Amino acid sequence: MRLSRFPITTSKDIPADAEIPSHQWMLRSGMIRRIAAGVYTWSPLGLKVLRHVERIVREEMEAAGALEVLMPMVQPAELWQESGRWDQMGPELLRLQDRHHRDFCLGPTHEEVVTEFMRRELKSYRQLPLNLFQIQTKFRDETRPRFGVMRAREFLMKDAYSFHRAPECLRDTYAIMRTAYTHILRRIGVDYRVVAADSGNIGGSASEEFHVLADTGEDLLAISDSGDFAANVEAAPCTAPLPARPEPGAAMEAVSTPDQRSLDEVGAFLKVPLARCLKTLVLRTEHDEAVLVVLRGDHQLNLIKVSRYLGDNCALATEARVQQVCGTTPGFVGPVGIDGVRILVDRDASVMADFVCGANAEGRHLLHVNWDRDLPLGEVADLRNIEAGELAPDGGRIELKRGIEVGHIFELGQKYSQSMHLSVPDEQGQPLVPFMGCYGVGVSRIVGAVIEQCHDEFGIRWPQSIAPFQVLIVALNPKKDPEVEQAIEDLYQGLIAAGVDVALDDRDLRPGHRFADADLIGIPHRIVAGARGFATQTLEYKRRGADSAEDIVWSVASVQEKLY
Ligand code: ATP
Ligand code: MG
Repeated sequence: MRLSRFPITTSKDIPADAEIPSHQWMLRSGMIRRIAAGVYTWSPLGLKVLRHVERIVREEMEAAGALEVLMPMVQPAELWQESGRWDQMGPELLRLQDRHHRDFCLGPTHEEVVTEFMRRELKSYRQLPLNLFQIQTKFRDETRPRFGVMRAREFLMKDAYSFHRAPECLRDTYAIMRTAYTHILRRIGVDYRVVAADSGNIGGSASEEFHVLADTGEDLLAISDSGDFAANVEAAPCTAPLPARPEPGAAMEAVSTPDQRSLDEVGAFLKVPLARCLKTLVLRTEHDEAVLVVLRGDHQLNLIKVSRYLGDNCALATEARVQQVCGTTPGFVGPVGIDGVRILVDRDASVMADFVCGANAEGRHLLHVNWDRDLPLGEVADLRNIEAGELAPDGGRIELKRGIEVGHIFELGQKYSQSMHLSVPDEQGQPLVPFMGCYGVGVSRIVGAVIEQCHDEFGIRWPQSIAPFQVLIVALNPKKDPEVEQAIEDLYQGLIAAGVDVALDDRDLRPGHRFADADLIGIPHRIVAGARGFATQTLEYKRRGADSAEDIVWSVASVQEKLY
């Protein structure tokens, strides 16, 4: 590709609305342009990278035995009503009507459509197992689209769905897909971790996520230093043995804490460590039930664990609701004397004694509170986030790392096949309800995630696997000498003929500008060819990110040698 014929529109300015490096570099290199919040056009340069990711994903899916399909993005409401998700999904599902006022949505995922497809396609158990995949646009009306293509509203996903006669067969395919995912990320060349995950509203039992490690990642991962256990903090169980609960001491008493609302302020004012202050949170379930959750003051609530325990999604209650339940503002709430409301006690909070908590009266807290003596111990469960340094379930110590979720695989079981009545006659002619798995890769998110790991102060440092071009030739003043011009042209054509994805920077710009562009757009290998080198038959070669350049022989073969 001649860059004089290829739009490269780089920018020196850091875009104001781009918070993280990958988003900044994608905009500055001109890979993407925003047309609405979370909706982007991919430029020719950006699309080259995206297509490389797609190719690797497609090759690994085919190697894993999956067959490619293409399902529609516009999906009829009836299918989503059948699975129950039309009502379950909130505003993230973008709904629309056609001219006949029929309801549709833009597909955020394709379990419903694929199950409908299989309902028509499957005639016999002999067709199973079957694994179908597509690489297709998804739309999710995210609350906070941000980080460019990483949390977009419109994005490209590879999604696959497998169908089986028995759970054992599903487990085998799940393992094959898990391996395929590790191949994809290894081929791309990023540092990643596989972690146990919560299956969210997709449903099902076993589920694992694939994370590219990066400090800017939105997810927190709990990884054991022994190397066996790794889980998203959302799903990491706190299993360390608990100490016995100390005996109660002094009698409970109310004290005045007029201006102390946060637990930190209360602890400091009463000179009690946070670990002996009880944190009380009022939650509201999707079915509008109020629930009190109490934790040790120095621990963090895990809403996913609470939701899973209750079997109902919950969120923090509004201040009005807190008033209604506890008769006071959030700074002074506690579990003592609360009637008719479920009280969930985190495991670690259940072994606290002589603790401080809100008195359910404005400006007052209780001292020396003890379970069983002063209030009944509610339902005890694991409801908090695991923390760094804790004992992991495998006996190691927990380390916390940040990650970007680029893949997620699920054993769905019969959730969709049952609710949508997918069945095939088995050997005896009896209806067999297939077991399903589903497997997603954020194809467009991977592009951002790779940059998050592979960049420096000058720009992107693409791994060769997905670079927009492998080699860039910067031609210095080629027009000055026809012989040099021809030699550069021969080198360029020679590399193309050798199957190298090469770009020739023949733009009429200062060399410094072109070198800066080469670094910014992140081409892994740079060649400088000019009259001076031609005289000695040398090219200047520099690997992106290397400290210095070196001279190599002016030939296709010596450039090729550098690529491996
Ligand atoms: P997240 O927790 O990041 O919102 P998710 O759990 O909703 O993701 P899945 O339903 O598992 O995502 O979708 C499969 C993959 O699609 C994810 O692993 C991720 O890589 C990608 N993905 C999900 N949402 C987005 C988005 N808004 N923008 C870009 N990629 C996304
Ligand atoms: Mg997920």
